[in-house]
Amino acid sequence: MPHHPPEPFRIKVVEPIRRVDHRQRTLALQAAGYNVFGLAAEDIFIDLLTDSGTGAMSDRQWSALMLGDESYAGARSFYRLKAAVDHIFGFPYFVPTHQGRAAEHILSSLFIHPGQYVPSNTHFDTTQANILARGGRPEDLVIQEAADPKTRLPFKGNMDLEKLEALIRRVGVENVPLGMITITNNAAGGQPVSLENLRGVSEIYRRYGIPFFIDGCRYAENAYFIKLREPAYQNHSLLEIAREMFSLADGMTLSAKKDAIVNIGGFLAMRDEGLFQRASNELILREGFPTYGGLAGRDLDAMAVGLLEGLEEDYLAYRIGQTAYLTDRLLEIGIPVIEPPGGHAVYVDAGRLLPHIPREAFPGQALVVSMYLEGGIRAVELGSVAFAHPDPETGEIRHPPLELVRLAIPRRTYTQTHMDFVVQVMARVYERRERLPGYRLTYAPELLRHFTARFEPIP
Ligand SMILES: *Cc1c(COP(=O)(O)O)cnc(C)c1O
Repeated sequence: MPHHPPEPFRIKVVEPIRRVDHRQRTLALQAAGYNVFGLAAEDIFIDLLTDSGTGAMSDRQWSALMLGDESYAGARSFYRLKAAVDHIFGFPYFVPTHQGRAAEHILSSLFIHPGQYVPSNTHFDTTQANILARGGRPEDLVIQEAADPKTRLPFKGNMDLEKLEALIRRVGVENVPLGMITITNNAAGGQPVSLENLRGVSEIYRRYGIPFFIDGCRYAENAYFIKLREPAYQNHSLLEIAREMFSLADGMTLSAKKDAIVNIGGFLAMRDEGLFQRASNELILREGFPTYGGLAGRDLDAMAVGLLEGLEEDYLAYRIGQTAYLTDRLLEIGIPVIEPPGGHAVYVDAGRLLPHIPREAFPGQALVVSMYLEGGIRAVELGSVAFAHPDPETGEIRHPPLELVRLAIPRRTYTQTHMDFVVQVMARVYERRERLPGYRLTYAPELLRHFTARFEPIP
């Protein structure tokens, strides 16, 4: 029987959740056009839509909020955050932003010209969109094995170093203004990147003189996987591992809504003073004065505390253990999921679970709808609803490699009993799987359609 370490916290404040009945769930879904993004949170029992900004802050973070210094310039809160950024990541300069995508926006505006390429293992969708918005070309160069859901590799988020070097040679170094990598690799299953791989990536970028920025949203989960799985680091502290990861880069972007366990926040950090000055000018235009960015002083303080709490080893043992627990229990009842378990989420292979539903009828959507109908659970489709698009040349529809549904786990929010409930609901879905209908679109905007599309079941 799988298990995970007991939660290394006890509960001081509770937020009631309720289970609306089956009839109400059916009506709510119909009103939302069978799109769970359209549901009111009130009507959801367990919300696994995202792990972004949905975690529970600690008593120390809530106390830190009260120390927030709301001075427009030079606030104490900024210097406390600066000390934490320096301590963990070692970058001498940074600007706070309201969340990760604002940091990506500033970074893109400082580096990218139309037609230029930006490689990564896999760009997260907001990073991809920010590069595209500058006329740039995001390139995903993750290792080949990442595409196979059943291959168990310790570092399935790694960059393919040969592909990276081949890309730079093919397009010319003058057309690669910036190189990135995402840790953990969110869009490819929350899989970690090894320090060995980071070193290889850094070496290539340095050799070609390409500035290297890490998308560090899940720095702590990645550091923990390195300690567990990369033998040279088993006796290192997580802080030492984090410092070593970021010592290889010229800068980073961060959404603090992930491993810093706050509800809002982010930053862009760098070593270069000239770049910092240019970033500050962009920041003043878009976010705010450089000592608060897009945030209140209290948000900076909560982030400063959360950045360090995110690296605590007993917390990460429970966190990564919880994801592995849910993965293993779903595998036990026959649900196909991406293996091995990643950091922040379980990814169900809906294409394999529902082979009778063709990709055009959205098996992932069918699964998401049935999870809500069966148990009031909200997950997110990351298959053809989110990613299928017509080929710009032939007009033919191009599907993503897999029809996935992501069950993202908010930090410190749900207990093992909640996870057991998710498994029970999934078992009921599994029993009924052959009878689940496919869906067709009744409305879809052109871009990022999964947020607002509407559907109906195919009878
Ligand atoms: C969430 C996320 C972002 C964007 O951050 P926001 O705070 O949502 O703007 C960027 N990269 C990765 C890997 C993420 O998970």
